[in-house]
Amino acid sequence: MTKKLTYQELELQIEELKAQSADLQSQLEIAKESATQSRETARLLQTLVDTIPSPLFYKNINGVYEQCNAAFAETIFGIDKDKIMNKSLFDLGEYIPHELAKIYHAKDLILLKNPGKQVYETSVKCADGSIRIFSFYKASVLAENGKILGVVGVMLDVTELKNQKHELKETNRRLETYSMTDPLTSLYNRRKFNAVFPDCLRVAKRSKRLLNFAIIDIDNFKKYNDNYGHVAGDDALVTIAGLLQSKLLRADDYIFRLGGEEFGLLFYADDEIMASQLVSDIRLAVQELAIPHKANDNNRYVTISLGLVTIKRSDNSMLELYKMADDLLYKVKRSGKNQILARIV
Ligand code: GH3
Ligand code: MG
Ligand code: MG
Repeated sequence: MTKKLTYQELELQIEELKAQSADLQSQLEIAKESATQSRETARLLQTLVDTIPSPLFYKNINGVYEQCNAAFAETIFGIDKDKIMNKSLFDLGEYIPHELAKIYHAKDLILLKNPGKQVYETSVKCADGSIRIFSFYKASVLAENGKILGVVGVMLDVTELKNQKHELKETNRRLETYSMTDPLTSLYNRRKFNAVFPDCLRVAKRSKRLLNFAIIDIDNFKKYNDNYGHVAGDDALVTIAGLLQSKLLRADDYIFRLGGEEFGLLFYADDEIMASQLVSDIRLAVQELAIPHKANDNNRYVTISLGLVTIKRSDNSMLELYKMADDLLYKVKRSGKNQILARIV
C-alpha cells in the first residue's frame, strides 16, 4: 500500500525534481557547448592541415587512411579526399602502382612494429603525371596506454632543392674546370699543374713507375710575333698544343700550358729511353708542322727546345724538379735551341 504524501512532502519532491531538472539542463548546456567546442577544434585543425601545402596523412594499424589533407588528396591522387578515406594503399591501385604500394607498406610496417620516427626520400608519381622527389617524415601514433594506433606522415617536395643542388654541383664543376684550363689552347693551366704534379709524384713512388717531366719552350717566339703578328702567334700556340695532345694520349698523361709560350708534360714511361724518344719525336713533329718562322735562329720553321727530367729514385720536391727542367732548358737555349737536354734523378 502506498503511503499518501502530505501536501508539504509533495511540494518538497517537486522542488527536488525542479532542482534536478535545472541541474540536468545546465549539464546539457555544458555538453552542448563542449560538443560545439570540439567540432570547432576539429574544424580548426582540419583547416590548418588543409592550409599546409605539404601532403599529410594518417593511416591506422591496418594501413587504412583515416585522415589526410587537401594537398595529399589533390597533389598526390588528384581525387576527392572522401575517395581516399577508409582505403588502403592497395585499394588505391588505380593511383599507386602495386610495386610502390608494397614499398610504402613495408616502411609503415617498420613503424607499426617498432614505434618511432622515420625519414626517407623517394620518388612519387603525382596527380599531374610528374615524378617528384619527396622527403617522407613519418612517426608511429601511440595511445595513452602505449598501444600503437597508426602512422602519420608528412611529405616534403624536395625536387627543386635536389635540382638546384645538382645545378650548383654542375656549376662548381664547370667553374673548377674553367679555373684549371687555359682559355687559348684549352690545355690545363699552371694552377692544375701545381695540383697534379705532387699527386703524380706520389703515384710514381707508390707504384714504382717512371714519371717524366718536360718543359717545352718555343724558340724565338718573340720574333715570331714581331714578324707575323700576335694573332698568328696565338694560332701557332694552338697548333702546337694540338700536336702535343695528339702525341700524349694515355689517360694518365698530362699536358699543360705553363705560361706564355711554355708547355709542360707529365707522363709515365717504361724506361728513360722511351721517355726521351717520345720528347724527341715531339720536337721533330713540331718542326715538321712547318710553320714558317723566317727570324728563327737555325731553322726556317717554328721549333721548340725541351728540358726533360726522368724521376727514377728521387725524393725531390716539385719545385726542385721544376728548377732542374728549367735549368736544362736554359742550357739548351744557350747552346743553339731546337734540342733536348735530359737528366735522370
Ligand atoms: P727563346 O727562344 O729564348 O725562348 O726566345 P723567345 O722569344 O721565345 O722568348 P722570350 O721569353 O723572349 O719571349 C717569349 C714571347 O712569347 C714573348 C711573347 O710575345 C710571346 N708570347 C707569350 N704568350 C703569348 C701569347 O699568348 N700569344 C702570343 N701570340 N705570344 C705570346
Ligand atoms: Mg719562354
Ligand atoms: Mg721561347
